[in-house]
Amino acid sequence: MCHAPRPSRGAAAQAEVGVSPTRTVNHMPTFRTVTTLGTTAFAIHVLSACVADTRAASRTAEEVPGAAGEPYPQMPSIAAIGERTGKYLDVPESAKGPAVDPAKGYRLQDLGRGLYMVTDNAYQSMLLVYDRGVVVIDAPPAYAARLPQAIAEVTDKPITHVVYSHSHVDHVGGTKALGGQPVIVAHDETARLLKRAADRNRPLPTVTFADRYTLRVGAQVLELSYHGNAHEPGNIFIHAPAQRVLMVVDVVFPGWMPWRRFALAKDIHGYFAQVDQIRTLDWDTLVGGHVARTGTRADVETQAEFNRDVKQAAATALATTKLGVGLNPRDGANPWAGFDNYIDRVAGQCVNALTPKWSSRLAGFDVYIWDQCYAMEQSLRIE
Ligand SMILES: [Zn+2]
Repeated sequence: MCHAPRPSRGAAAQAEVGVSPTRTVNHMPTFRTVTTLGTTAFAIHVLSACVADTRAASRTAEEVPGAAGEPYPQMPSIAAIGERTGKYLDVPESAKGPAVDPAKGYRLQDLGRGLYMVTDNAYQSMLLVYDRGVVVIDAPPAYAARLPQAIAEVTDKPITHVVYSHSHVDHVGGTKALGGQPVIVAHDETARLLKRAADRNRPLPTVTFADRYTLRVGAQVLELSYHGNAHEPGNIFIHAPAQRVLMVVDVVFPGWMPWRRFALAKDIHGYFAQVDQIRTLDWDTLVGGHVARTGTRADVETQAEFNRDVKQAAATALATTKLGVGLNPRDGANPWAGFDNYIDRVAGQCVNALTPKWSSRLAGFDVYIWDQCYAMEQSLRIE
């Protein structure tokens, strides 16, 4: 087999995350037809593949515009966006939650006083049971069809209300499948976005609000409030005061990295502010809408600390990186190329700075750290 070794990368970071210190570009010849050949024929085939491959590789950097060249200096060992990863980092124990019964496809977690979390260990929603019915808070399509079965485990009362955390289809796109004609409560902005989406699986809200709304059903109370754009316009805080539970979706991911680009935050500054705001409120259990377990106050502290570290790492990288270094002079009249080269080097430095502390602390670090660094440098550079 023919290996064309890439120049060595940040050795320190490689040692710290325990991945192979030497990454190679493996231009793999096709062996499928070779297996029936003798050893000599096999060797000749591989050798010729290597020679052709080396020629292609040497042509790549210098002669084939747009093709991949050599990695940047101090390239992180964490695979960059678009690079294939052989084995992702293991998920730390601290990120895991109770198992889901595969026969059911969901699990119910009693949050006290008639409030339950439903999860498939990837998505999370809630049920609030009161004397005459059930309030469903989000209906992820991933398991919405099983919500009636989950409800039947705890009550025989009907679904009377649905609360939308926000408009995204992966959280509320199972609403139509619940059947009936429940009262649907959401923020004004969510109603606007859903009108635009015109998705029959996400019925329009029947009750909307701008700042605050208190949903009283029997003796149960949910306090809904809006704290501005962060993840998406209209994404609300859902507080169950009697149960001391706060649900905020797509902002804090207990034990995990946020989904890519700070969970696709529409406003990075607003997103950072919202994590800090969650810290100031009075609650014991956080339902984040994703991952395998509920969150604690320590999880929110960890996320805030991670956010601060990414911000610092990106700021330092921006301040210490020069435009144009290593750029092919023939690309001098291409400002897009100049910035691509610059931003890649900034992001790489940011990834290297964060890897020692965070790669074993948050699950999925290697999956999205490049995305977080790209999002952060962009936010700091232009916002
Ligand atoms: Zn979302």
